[in-house]
Amino acid sequence: MRHPALIVNKEKILGNARVVAELCGSRGMDVWGVTKGLSGDPMLARIYAKAGFRGICDSRLRNLRKIGDAGAPLPRQLIRIAMMSELRELAATAEMSLQSDIETIRELDRICVSAGIRREVLIMIDAGDLREGFWPTELPEAARELKDLDGGVKIGGVAANFACASGVLPTPDNMARLVKCRDVISEITGYEMPAVSVGGTCCLKMIEDGLVPEGVNVLRICEGVILGTDTAFGRVIPYLARDALTVTAEIAECRQKPSVPVGDVGYQAFGEKPVFTDRGLRKRAVLAIGRQDVNIGRITPLDENAEIVTASSDHLIVDVTDAKVMYKTGDLMSFRPLYPAMLACATSEYVEVIFE
Ligand SMILES: *Cc1c(COP(=O)(O)O)cnc(C)c1O
Repeated sequence: MRHPALIVNKEKILGNARVVAELCGSRGMDVWGVTKGLSGDPMLARIYAKAGFRGICDSRLRNLRKIGDAGAPLPRQLIRIAMMSELRELAATAEMSLQSDIETIRELDRICVSAGIRREVLIMIDAGDLREGFWPTELPEAARELKDLDGGVKIGGVAANFACASGVLPTPDNMARLVKCRDVISEITGYEMPAVSVGGTCCLKMIEDGLVPEGVNVLRICEGVILGTDTAFGRVIPYLARDALTVTAEIAECRQKPSVPVGDVGYQAFGEKPVFTDRGLRKRAVLAIGRQDVNIGRITPLDENAEIVTASSDHLIVDVTDAKVMYKTGDLMSFRPLYPAMLACATSEYVEVIFE
């Protein structure tokens, strides 16, 4: 195995996914699994299918294509509102997408009609988080424009995101408003629009508490299933495994050095001016992993007595003076990644992603 690596425990993710599918099922909701956390790895899509999820979501067409090339186990949905320039590829790649622009929907409709295919679109509503989506007051007019589509696009429902750009949390109120938005569009267009899809992990809390209003019937989720955490609520999800992912890196040097640098200190490579406390001589492991591979503020050593000191683009310095293990050159160290670190590792071409 080459390092650095992101090691993914398939059984743990499958276990988490099954628990989430069952919880949502008991509340009358389907689950669509988001694969962007691991760069659209087809293995993750297969795990989601095995757990009983109903579809695969990713923010990048490239990832959805990769999943398709490996034999998509479930329908695919593009969850980043499509760019005008990628509509042809979207029509060829994904059965469904989230959209928030009338012109884009019209163009997709034209493309699908001329290709003799039909694609489903969920209308993205801004539920207050101020990322993408129609503002609710715009909906009557938008709905009138959606009425005259030529049949290439089927409007299948609405969707919203919470806690993505501004941290706005889901509530029974804003979710109920979403269902109302669906009803407004459905009434004006005459379309049947069964899907009301919400994301992401922050919605799980309301599902647990049985507070999701009638009509909300799809959860899109990534973080909770893979990491067992719910960043928006700042909580760990007590009934999910939190050790499915491990980041490993190799020690390329290990020796004692002073804890305060020698010389005048300016700004380091990333424009920060570090502060130092004199702790005497410390044993420092220099690991072959850096900011090009991982978000170093978002990983935690599995060895509780090891402490990350700093990092450059290619090196991570860990204080191992008090560590449980007598680390030496050539040893591996393991870390638990949070969401941003998972994304960085999965995206870095220098990090090998290994499912085991
Ligand atoms: C990333 C994403 C999700 C999944 O969010 P998590 O909080 O990671 O579960 C759901 N929907 C959309 C549109 C997303 O971009």
